[in-house]
Amino acid sequence: MEKVVIIGTGCAGLTAAIYAARGGLQPLVLEGRQPGGQLSTTTLVENFPGFPEGVDGPDLIMRMKAQAEGFGARFQWAELTNFEPQDGFLSLQFDNAEQVETRTLIVASGAAARWLGLANEKKLIGHGLTSCATCDGAFYRNVPVCVVGGGDSAAEEALFLTRFASKVYLVHRRDTLRASKIMTARVLEHPKIEPVWHTKVEEYLPTAEGEMRAVRLKNLQSGAESELEVACVFVAIGHEPNTRPFVGKLALDPEGYLLKTRGTATAVPGVFAAGDVSDKVYRQAIWAAGDGCAAALDAERYLTEHAEEPASVPLSPTEQVLAAEGELVVGNA
Ligand code: NAP
Repeated sequence: MEKVVIIGTGCAGLTAAIYAARGGLQPLVLEGRQPGGQLSTTTLVENFPGFPEGVDGPDLIMRMKAQAEGFGARFQWAELTNFEPQDGFLSLQFDNAEQVETRTLIVASGAAARWLGLANEKKLIGHGLTSCATCDGAFYRNVPVCVVGGGDSAAEEALFLTRFASKVYLVHRRDTLRASKIMTARVLEHPKIEPVWHTKVEEYLPTAEGEMRAVRLKNLQSGAESELEVACVFVAIGHEPNTRPFVGKLALDPEGYLLKTRGTATAVPGVFAAGDVSDKVYRQAIWAAGDGCAAALDAERYLTEHAEEPASVPLSPTEQVLAAEGELVVGNA
């Protein structure tokens, strides 16, 4: 029986792993399909405290992982496919057919930015294509950029980018924004933002060196095509939280984000949520790290408050030895 299983190795999962491991809980950490989370697809991170010169996103993740391993966290390449709350513990099913029982589960499986699905997309991420203006906006000073989307995220990204870019084109497939009224007004009134209505991006046009140079646009009403020179494309068409194994088992909001009850606790005892899987507002690495810390502390407190091993669970080999030697007291004794 595990004490803590952590799903996800982004900032939230790895910080939870550091805290849980340092607390002597030897957490089992599952690395899913995108180990390292969203930071693993960024380049320089300039807003993570403690790195005045900035830090490479994948490097930051590797350091966090090494820190967790140093304290005794165990990592496994597997994805959670199913989970069932039992009497006092949780039964987990992995995609490698392994079944694991745990007293607590920290869900830090993150959220994935939606992309346009165009050619060369994966290659261009970090080279003039990004989904995070807060992360990458400051790299594009005095050059034209574009934001794709019409929701609050797109509006927020466009407004943020006006601090740096010479011009911000807002490319949207309709001629009204889905964003809130106040954000819409700010966007439309801003002298640096130029909406490009009824338009979709058809193609990314990189330089020979593989950096974004321009996009090919298509007007959805007239069918006319044009080229727009931009040094960076900020895609802001929404995120999808990675909550598939929890549908029908944990409470989710209408957009699929995990709902917490108190602190990082979910409505299912022993299950905690941290980071982007339960956050659609802040979406920042440092915030996810803080939330991961909170989840580990909440899990630790839960284990202390529910110190009894569930009666139905067989003892581990180590516990059997300790029990035989009279050094392990089980149940209410
Ligand atoms: P969203 O509200 O779902 O908006 C996504 C936008 O992207 C829509 O305008 C949509 O166009 C467009 N879009 C979707 N798929 C597209 C595609 N394949 N090609 C081109 N355009 C596409 O997502 P969001 O802006 O990330 O916001 C998500 C939630 O977080 C919302 O509830 C939002 O209010 C909230 N949020 C709040 C704040 C804040 O309060 N500060 C900040 C950010 C987000 P259509 O409009 O035509 O569908």
